[in-house]
Amino acid sequence: MKYISRYINVISLREVAVIGGGFVGSFTSWQLARKGINVTLFEEHDEIGYPPHCTGLVSISGLQRLGIYDLLKRQGAILNKIRSATFMTSSGRRFIAELPEPIAVIVDRPALDRIIASKAIDNGVEVNLRTRVTHVSPSGELRALSGDNGLVKRRYKVIVDAEGPARLLIRGLPGVNMKGLLPAFQQDIRGESNRFLDTSSVLVYFNLPDFFSWIVPIDNSGRKWRIGLASRQYSSKLLAVAKSLTRTFFKNISTIRRFGGIVVSGGPIKKFVWGKIAAVGDAAGQVKPTTGGGVTFGGLSALILSRVIQLHLDFEAPLQYYESIWRKLFRTNFQAMLLIRRIYNMLTHAGIDALARFIPRNILNNFKTDFDFQLEGILSKLR
Ligand SMILES: Cc1cc2nc3c(=O)[nH]c(=O)nc-3n(C[C@H](O)[C@H](O)[C@H](O)COP(=O)(O)OP(=O)(O)OC[C@H]3O[C@@H](n4cnc5c(N)ncnc54)[C@H](O)[C@@H]3O)c2cc1C
Repeated sequence: MKYISRYINVISLREVAVIGGGFVGSFTSWQLARKGINVTLFEEHDEIGYPPHCTGLVSISGLQRLGIYDLLKRQGAILNKIRSATFMTSSGRRFIAELPEPIAVIVDRPALDRIIASKAIDNGVEVNLRTRVTHVSPSGELRALSGDNGLVKRRYKVIVDAEGPARLLIRGLPGVNMKGLLPAFQQDIRGESNRFLDTSSVLVYFNLPDFFSWIVPIDNSGRKWRIGLASRQYSSKLLAVAKSLTRTFFKNISTIRRFGGIVVSGGPIKKFVWGKIAAVGDAAGQVKPTTGGGVTFGGLSALILSRVIQLHLDFEAPLQYYESIWRKLFRTNFQAMLLIRRIYNMLTHAGIDALARFIPRNILNNFKTDFDFQLEGILSKLR
């Protein structure tokens, strides 16, 4: 009997497996389930959203375009609103971009993942926690090790890899690289700012050779702050730099928690699709190389992928459409952001300071930006 049920498990073709219950995996699962597709989500940890690794700074327009801003507001996952940014060179020269309206928010990141995973579950997604996927193949076979059920072996019509930046499952497939993955460190503190920081502003500090440090106000109390930094070149000194930043900018400090992560700054990998496997989110490098922000782009990519999977299951449309549509929409933008990152990485601190001297301090006055590249029409059709 045991043999028969295992056999049935192997041969019955299920619809879609999603690996990873981070934001992108959960969001993709939800979007697929809304389209009536049978989805099984695998998450190796025993809780969605943990351990956290993200700062949670996300543009309001990005969340609106994903259709989740009001949902997050209703569920109390918006911790703070941001309407200005200070960019500071290593010698202390500052440029301020101030806006009349808030443009971004600090999202409670574990709550975001949980809220989206709940939406997925409400729409019928089967979530397997404590289940680590150990192998996927382009033929649709998936193997996993489950804390509850032992070894699981199944076949799927599509496997979505949303495992995050480590790319362990797809590492050996053509076009997958590990470029621009930066060790990161964050520290949440209680303390009073003794500098120019305020509760609706983020600081971007160009004090590292291959990325930057940042300080965000977690809420508007003026007492809770998140200090973060990412760097490969300074990877062994992240804690020391964070401590020094904390001492420089705050007084009466107590540490709430410290946590790490991997910032993706190398841009998209060369391919997103291999047979029945499709990668999305950090696994596919769909993260802004300039800032390391991946929530909006991961979500937009999930919208494209879920629509293509629907067309694939209903009409046998090739999964490769996902790759082609993505490149058509985002390639130019990503190439520009990669160029900025490469130029920054080539400059020394002294070089950046020298350049900054030629830039008027008020250059960012009336700064306007659109994170979403006039994609409205196309995206509304994908939702
Ligand atoms: C320090 C730091 C700060 C950041 N700040 C921001 C920010 O302010 N704004 C922003 O937009 N972006 C930010 N990002 C980027 C953002 O966190 C990611 O782009 C986003 O989380 C991508 O989500 P994801 O679902 O692709 O990957 P992840 O959130 O990494 O989720 C992957 C999930 O897959 C699970 N998993 C992995 N392997 C397996 C397996 N084999 N089997 C089962 N489960 C598995 C993991 O447990 C995890 O839950 C930051 C990143 C870092 C590291």
